[in-house]
Amino acid sequence: MCGIMGYIGDENAADIIISGLEELEYRGYDSAGLAVGNGTEVKTAKVVGSPSGLRKETEGISGHIGIGHTRWATHGAPTVTNAHPHISGSGLFTVVHNGIIENYAELKAELEEQGFEFKSDTDTEVIAQMLEHLYNGDLKGTVSAALSRFKGSYALGIMCRDYPDCIVCAKLSSPLFAGVSRGCVYLASDVSAIAGKGDRIFRVNDGEIGILKKDGLKIFDLDGCRIRKSEIKIKAFDRNSDKGGYKHYMLKEITEQPAAVRRTLSEFINESGRIKFKGLHLTKQEIQDLDQIIFVACGSAYHVGTVGAYACEKLCKKHARAVIASEFRYMHPYLDEKTLVVIISQSGETADTLAAMRIAEKKGAKIIGIVNVENSTIAQECKNVIMTRAGKEVAVATTKAYSAQLAVVYALAIRLAEISGTLSRRETAEYVAELKAVPDKIEILLSDIEKYKSFADIADSSGYICFIGRGFDYCAAMEASLKLKEISYIPCEAYAAGELKHGTISLIDRNSLTVALCCQEELKQKTESNVNEVRARNGKTITVSSSDGDIVIPKTLDIFTPSLEVIPLQLLAYYTALKRGCPIDKPRNLAKSVTVE
Ligand code: GLU
Repeated sequence: MCGIMGYIGDENAADIIISGLEELEYRGYDSAGLAVGNGTEVKTAKVVGSPSGLRKETEGISGHIGIGHTRWATHGAPTVTNAHPHISGSGLFTVVHNGIIENYAELKAELEEQGFEFKSDTDTEVIAQMLEHLYNGDLKGTVSAALSRFKGSYALGIMCRDYPDCIVCAKLSSPLFAGVSRGCVYLASDVSAIAGKGDRIFRVNDGEIGILKKDGLKIFDLDGCRIRKSEIKIKAFDRNSDKGGYKHYMLKEITEQPAAVRRTLSEFINESGRIKFKGLHLTKQEIQDLDQIIFVACGSAYHVGTVGAYACEKLCKKHARAVIASEFRYMHPYLDEKTLVVIISQSGETADTLAAMRIAEKKGAKIIGIVNVENSTIAQECKNVIMTRAGKEVAVATTKAYSAQLAVVYALAIRLAEISGTLSRRETAEYVAELKAVPDKIEILLSDIEKYKSFADIADSSGYICFIGRGFDYCAAMEASLKLKEISYIPCEAYAAGELKHGTISLIDRNSLTVALCCQEELKQKTESNVNEVRARNGKTITVSSSDGDIVIPKTLDIFTPSLEVIPLQLLAYYTALKRGCPIDKPRNLAKSVTVE
């Protein structure tokens, strides 16, 4: 969620660290800090707010080694005291940390008994103090001993006064990368902060300790044995991130959706319209034998999963459902070798999704991962990976990654149905042809984006907004509702239209807005009846349909409707948030990549 950046080299460490942290800002943060060493002493600077605030604070600080952090507070308010780095009692250890030390309270009590005094409310301070407590002069051994005491998740950058020329790093369930160039090394929790800087980039894995020095990186296991690693490759389009003339990344990314979907489809639909997933290693027999398909994800990716489940149930004639990853973990899911679990995560690092994947793996289910970030943990660990080619998404509220994920789940449902024999060759060809037309239809919707501004006026004046729909429209309603609430802060919810009368209708009054999605022909009239019920109670309404709604989308096959109806509703969210003066690309309290549970 938050970010780590470290550097050793000939340049001024503070400058490099601050610009690296700025690169990570999109992930979400509430405070920032850094520590820079000059060989004799380590100086720190911390601010509440953006890492650019560190520029002023570090004016007098120079040195060639340092670690920095953008914090997304989990333990303790976002204050200067709680900002990282945290320093051990005597100043021996300086630590930055992403993640949560779940047993921090018990460790803190133990250390307090030993006489350690704590300054912050964070769990992270326990790490620094524990290192000092266990220190025996052997840095690597001490770090290894300390790690064995921590439960939870962490990515760590550690400096030790006795070793002024090195940074130690380690991780558990939270990403960490090191970049190596001639005469300098980098450490970062997100590859984008060092892509283009380090000539060679390495992923640090769980159970490894990395020692960074100016002349290179050495990685060891927890017993101190050296590990040889291969470097990872970074795709060129993952590197660039500018607004391209748009006011916000979100708007830029909305307009990039036709290209993102086209690029993604071209990964697995060939010239003759056949679907072939290169990263899928399931046999025909294994697919035919499947008796349930479960999509597991969080947030918008979960909404994609609902579309995937509806599409698989309809086309493959198999039991299919979508489950929120954090629930999946704790519901004791019944899985066996005839279960396919489809894991969806933009970042490939989503903590609950990753943990769910590991559970499914242990229980012997077949697993497919759908991810956007090539070198992410899910992309590395999952045996069957389908990449979305959305490119780097900077705005916290996802748009183009969501659309690219939809493209994958459609194709997956079609292909599974084809292999299972529930779609004929002709039907498969019809679905594929229509799927290939989706990017062009998104383009039509984007040809006049300004026209959605007037709907934003209605949303802005509403105290409560409800999105309703049936079937695939309901799946899209969930995403539209999340989009609007996350960036405009207006209370929104999505309801299966048939459920309206079972509760939500009590909230309908002249202050409320109901956005009704009626894009599937055979369900349209039913949802329109709900619209009439809302109007009869003075509620405001906006209808989206493929024939005669307030917002009209191009016609398509029912399973693809979410890809089209979501576009004007992303713009509704964008223009509403713009009108309200909200920080659209970085909504309060939210983080791009949710790496803690
Ligand atoms: N749990 C730590 C804290 O609250 C780290 C949070 C983060 O990952 O930024 O300070």
